[in-house]
Amino acid sequence: MKYMAEDKGTLYLCATPIGNLGDISERCLEILRSVDLVAAEDTRRTLQLLNHFDISKPLTSYHEHNKKTKGEYILRLLLEGKNIAQVSDAGTPAISDPGEDLVKLCIENDVTVTSVPGPVAGIQALILSGLSTRRYAFEGFLSVNKKNRYEHLNSVKNDTHTLIFYEAPHKLRSTLESMSAVFGGERRIALARELTKLHEEIIRTTIDGALEYYSERPPRGEYVIVVEGALEAADEEESPFWSDMSIAEHVDKYISEGMSQKDAIKKAAADRNVPKREVYNEYHK
Ligand code: SAM
Repeated sequence: MKYMAEDKGTLYLCATPIGNLGDISERCLEILRSVDLVAAEDTRRTLQLLNHFDISKPLTSYHEHNKKTKGEYILRLLLEGKNIAQVSDAGTPAISDPGEDLVKLCIENDVTVTSVPGPVAGIQALILSGLSTRRYAFEGFLSVNKKNRYEHLNSVKNDTHTLIFYEAPHKLRSTLESMSAVFGGERRIALARELTKLHEEIIRTTIDGALEYYSERPPRGEYVIVVEGALEAADEEESPFWSDMSIAEHVDKYISEGMSQKDAIKKAAADRNVPKREVYNEYHK
């Protein structure tokens, strides 16, 4: 059967909040209200979202494990003229979430795909990281397989742009250990946790600083790890950021980034290659 372009429906890739329901856009709500069907990564979660906004809409599941057969089904409906919204559990579809294959399928079949923009956790983390936003690369999740994880990290070790990773809390420590082994523990990172939620927290430190921080407390919630690029780290080696600072300013900078006074003194002493006591005395002068 041949379908005319004007008879076909449209696939709307709808970004939804990553934690704060207030971040849903008016256009997203409008599209969710107007489409014939919502294809959701997890229909239960999306039903909660729709209920919250008083939207009643047929749902179908579309996820990693049914994307082949469900993709064909969704395509058929689009070709028949149905308008469909695709949503993931949180954030933007097709970013470390299902969507990419459906988009390809639609393009191959001349079905219009459009997007309803909204949050992407990686971008929120990047802009809050304090690291360079001029050039960045989204690296997604690292593999659970150790060999693949190291291969991935080694392949970006010398990249000069800022790197963005997604990570689950129970794997955070082992990922930081792998990063320390490959990138070196002194590279600056920002750990963005529970973005847009009540307990949002950005920890700006070094890779080893983060390992130390999490040696005492279990990582909780959702994380994005933003890692400084290689060149920036090298530049700093030539002319350290603290070279024009007094010892007190140097220590205060680390404290303002979330370190305890004790750790900040230890780190400043290590940076300057002087005894801790010297920094301690100078700081308390
Ligand atoms: N499509 C989503 C997006 O646009 O960001 C990402 C989905 S991916 C399956 C889920 C991962 O995104 C989490 O493991 C975490 O790394 C990151 N993430 C999602 N929401 C987050 C939040 N509120 N705070 C920090 N990280 C978050």
